[in-house]
Amino acid sequence: MSISENIQEFTKVMPDNVTLVAVSKTKPLSDLQEAYDAGQRVFGENKVQEMEAKWQELPKDIEWHMIGHVQRNKVKYMAPFVNLIHAVDSPRLLKEINKEAKKNNRVIQCLLQLKIAEEDSKFGMSEADAKALLTSEAFKSFENISVVGLMGMATFTDRQEQVRNEFKKLKRMYDDFSKTQQDFTILSMGMSGDYQIALEEGSTMVRVGSSIFGERNY
Ligand SMILES: *Cc1c(COP(=O)(O)O)cnc(C)c1O
Repeated sequence: MSISENIQEFTKVMPDNVTLVAVSKTKPLSDLQEAYDAGQRVFGENKVQEMEAKWQELPKDIEWHMIGHVQRNKVKYMAPFVNLIHAVDSPRLLKEINKEAKKNNRVIQCLLQLKIAEEDSKFGMSEADAKALLTSEAFKSFENISVVGLMGMATFTDRQEQVRNEFKKLKRMYDDFSKTQQDFTILSMGMSGDYQIALEEGSTMVRVGSSIFGERNY
């Protein structure tokens, strides 16, 4: 199937309350343009400079999401335009985003990435660290960021029950935090291999790359 057919299919099966992020990392501008022409407006990238270069070239009504791990010294390149940063995993990074957002006279929306997978390689904060951050005095003083939810990645495994349990865990944390965080509206979980399970477990935002654009050649 072509990229535009894939977009049409995904658009059809997404529930109304769920946002599809088309993960276009490593893909050429022509692929993004094809998805755009099929109606897709939300794109996800995992490298700041690659995202910036694509933002320069493509239509300005695209919403750009940074889904990858972010180094603090790169925040300034995306602060003028990024719509949502999915993988905030430290108070220092949040502080830097606040600073750069302020310079641009913007409020930047962020998600906290929580570690739900068993694998050691995955980034993310513990639930306790996230709670400490959200209740800290420093956090309350950040006027140019808004933390609007959580993001998580399940273990890369064929064991569906494990993936499901990890998503359940993140949904439980999301519901807990939502009791005190009025701004929480987004639960970002699910990728090409596991988005169906994620939707069943309450995801409101799925990040789909290879099922739309085909396999990536790194
Ligand atoms: C690459 C990536 C995705 C998309 O992965 P696919 O398996 O190609 O759908 C989703 N989320 C993050 C954080 C990624 O880095």
